[in-house]
Amino acid sequence: MYTVEIKNARYLYGFAQLSQYRPLEMPEIAVAGKSNVGKSSFINMLTNINGLAKVGQTPGKTRMINVFLLNGSFTLMDLPGYGYAKVARSEQERFSRLIEGYLHASQRLKHVFLLLDVRHAPTQDDLMMINWLSFYHVPFSVIATKADKLSKAQLSRRRQELSRETGLIASEIFPVSSATRQGKESICDRLAMLLAHENDAGDQNELAE
Ligand code: GDP
Repeated sequence: MYTVEIKNARYLYGFAQLSQYRPLEMPEIAVAGKSNVGKSSFINMLTNINGLAKVGQTPGKTRMINVFLLNGSFTLMDLPGYGYAKVARSEQERFSRLIEGYLHASQRLKHVFLLLDVRHAPTQDDLMMINWLSFYHVPFSVIATKADKLSKAQLSRRRQELSRETGLIASEIFPVSSATRQGKESICDRLAMLLAHENDAGDQNELAE
């Protein structure tokens, strides 16, 4: 089984408008989810850098798609958290358009990790995101966050339910906890699979067996 170890990560830039998107010659993996789902904590856990995901997200600042370079070989696209009631509707609509525009425009997007709180059924916004992913033929899997809040039995039940709720097979639902780091290895294994084709021709050093 291959895995990928995130050895280094850095913030590159953010874009609030699609016209500012500057794709690099490398695969993109996006993370999406409603605000407060645990997306920043997830990115920080994955990269082992506390505070990384907050870069470019100072309060009051325009929400953007933030781009991080991981292992110098792929970019992590942090899509703005949606569904936050305190954000004006016009602003929510603006970044909905940004997210949809990006899903439509990106030639290099390999996969989306859709973050859902393991305890709750997907919201209307989550279902809209799933519809877009299907519509634009973007493969995705679910990162079921805050898994530490449930017992093992509850977790296994929610995994089955999330599978039904999202239309994914259960093996595409990954329970994780940024608090206990549970599930991180499965994500790194999944990343290795997603990036394997890209690495066939390139640098094998990023992959460790
Ligand atoms: P974001 O808005 O999606 O970026 O969410 P954050 O990463 O800022 O997390 C939102 C809240 O959920 C914070 O209070 C976090 O401490 C908490 N949180 C995030 N991940 C976990 C987790 O795995 N377990 C628990 N118990 N709390 C979490």
